[in-house]
Amino acid sequence: MEYSEALKLKERWGKAPCDHPEFEKVYFFGTYLVNYACTKCGADLTIPRKLEIEEARKKKKIP
Ligand SMILES: [Zn+2]
Repeated sequence: MEYSEALKLKERWGKAPCDHPEFEKVYFFGTYLVNYACTKCGADLTIPRKLEIEEARKKKKIP
């Protein structure tokens, strides 16, 4: 998603908790940034953080 889109999501979501069910790579005017953003709350997720979540999910077998 576009970086501005992630910011909008973040604004809309506020401070509610989110377990970041899905991520998307963030880009800025067509250039990919290194980060991912949650498609639900717009939180910034670094690649290590994203891998951590995916790893934890695999272990717990949460779909
Ligand atoms: Zn989230």
